[in-house]
Amino acid sequence: IGVLPSAHMKKFKIVFLGDLGVGKTSIINQFMYGTFDPNHQPTIGIDFLSKTMYIDDRTFRLQLWDTAGQERFRSLIPNYIRDCTVAVIVFDITQRSSFLSLDKWVEDVKTERGGDVVIAIVANKSDLLEKRAVSYEEAEEKAKNLNVLFVEVSAKTGNNVKLLFGTLSKYLPGMQDISMSNAAEFGGNGFKLEPTPQPKEKADKCKC
Ligand code: GDP
Ligand code: MG
Repeated sequence: IGVLPSAHMKKFKIVFLGDLGVGKTSIINQFMYGTFDPNHQPTIGIDFLSKTMYIDDRTFRLQLWDTAGQERFRSLIPNYIRDCTVAVIVFDITQRSSFLSLDKWVEDVKTERGGDVVIAIVANKSDLLEKRAVSYEEAEEKAKNLNVLFVEVSAKTGNNVKLLFGTLSKYLPGMQDISMSNAAEFGGNGFKLEPTPQPKEKADKCKC
């Protein structure tokens, strides 16, 4: 028994895409450190962060690649996408333009990777319900049409953030059979989606 040397540990690259300001860095920080800093500066110079995951008897590493600032330089993005296992495309539920950008981001990923990639659309800032500009249903429908996963989260409150990564882990190559029995690392809720707090509980409809 024992943990494999990290050089031999399976690594999966997850790249975060989406318009500037949608909360990519905040989601990564919430998952890695359990913190939210509303005043953080756009990250510069950090390519990726790694987190070792322990699920059932599996140990593997997630490499979280943050496209820090490169959102504005789309020509650089294919380099990030090229060898990723998962593409997480984030939009901000209070910024309709970031929702309308989803098609382009998905197209970028499919152009680079064809069907050989797991794609998830993440609706972020679910704590800002009063400023919501994209309904849960509309986003869910969009994800369904694009045939990709969908989760609504809040990087601020942490709502569904751990679950997002637990769900993604289940879609990694060779991981489909994980039972997630030790769900504590992911919030201890047995991988049930937490609904976006009020007005209505709709998260049980999530296709993830
Ligand atoms: P990025 O450019 O996609 O990396 O976005 P950031 O993570 O830098 O976030 C952009 C802004 O949105 C920052 O001011 C964050 O504090 C804020 N933000 C990110 N996620 C959330 C969230 O879930 N709720 C709220 N209220 N603000 C958020
Ligand atoms: Mg960022």
